[in-house]
Amino acid sequence: MELIDRLSVDHELELGEYEGLVASFCPELASYAAGRACEARRSVYGDDVFIRGLIEIGSYCRNDCLYCGLRRSNRGAERYRLSREEILACCEEGYRLGFRTFVLQGGEDAAFTDEVVCDIVASIKEAHPDCAVTLSLGERSRESYRALFDAGADRYLLRHETADRAHYAQLHPAELSWERRMACLRELSDIGYQVGCGFMVGSPHQTSATLARDLKLVEGFRPAMCGIGPFIPHHATPFAHEPAGSAELTCYLLSLLRLIDPGLLLPATTALGTLDARGHERGMLAGANVVMPNLSPITVRRKYELYDNKACAGSEAAEGLAELSRRMEAIGYHVVVDRGDVRRRATE
Ligand code: SAM
Ligand code: SF4
Repeated sequence: MELIDRLSVDHELELGEYEGLVASFCPELASYAAGRACEARRSVYGDDVFIRGLIEIGSYCRNDCLYCGLRRSNRGAERYRLSREEILACCEEGYRLGFRTFVLQGGEDAAFTDEVVCDIVASIKEAHPDCAVTLSLGERSRESYRALFDAGADRYLLRHETADRAHYAQLHPAELSWERRMACLRELSDIGYQVGCGFMVGSPHQTSATLARDLKLVEGFRPAMCGIGPFIPHHATPFAHEPAGSAELTCYLLSLLRLIDPGLLLPATTALGTLDARGHERGMLAGANVVMPNLSPITVRRKYELYDNKACAGSEAAEGLAELSRRMEAIGYHVVVDRGDVRRRATE
């Protein structure tokens, strides 16, 4: 608890101290950290909950990440690709519902060339100049990131997955490198994106030591956003029989991240909502301030299967926004119609 108090004030700890905090995880400590985290979030964002409309633009992927149901080796996965018109129609509907940020996420698909994505981004910005566009399309070249930014993209989400090089190699095939992932994050930040990194909680081979590195990375890199959610196995991946991560540990880590940076955008993720029916509430009460309901066409939602039984209905869906709002109000939070940009202290 002394370390949590110190983290609340200094917003930094030694690597070994983070490891101690993670290893000491227990309900009492988690509840203490959550209380401090909610104070920290309130000081920057009040009780506002930002929403983002998540459009899963395609399920083709050239990569073979060992944990993901969309990996190229999964021959059973149903593949789809949304057209420009379908994506614009999602944004139209999302705008009507109250979304002011659209997140375009998908596998690494060569069909989404710079030309194609730049056109889509520019069209969204033209139709909705008051909205932010976030991209989450994996690793691309610096030139590509630059072109997409120049076309109007505001933010980019690229989870670092793990800040530990050896652990990264246990989660990915040899052709994917931790160094390249880190370089992408730096490039995105240099170009001027609001950058989101993040990691799964409970991924195979994860330890308190690797999680401590994740926390230290967020402390040093200062992303605008950090997406964390429990690992959930997918039946057609090499990790099919690995246990899922825990909602409790995810919430505890949300609290620690909030204390590292009170201004961080922290989503209560779909994976948390999948593992726990009250995941959104629990995430908020641990320090989160963002929810990303699914705005993809209903016909393709089942095909974007990163893990088994992925939630895509109720408060996890754009059309369930009223339910999400009610649930947030019930715990004292308010879903707002806002771009939901990151808020930094004046000195930063
Ligand atoms: N292809 C892009 C990329 O990898 O950055 C964006 C889409 S990818 C599916 C988004 C995130 O899903 C990944 O960064 C990963 O952390 C998460 N994910 C993949 N498989 C998962 C699983 N089995 N359980 C929980 N999260 C998973
Ligand atoms: Fe592809 Fe992203 Fe899944 Fe990796 S995590 S297989 S890059 S969709």
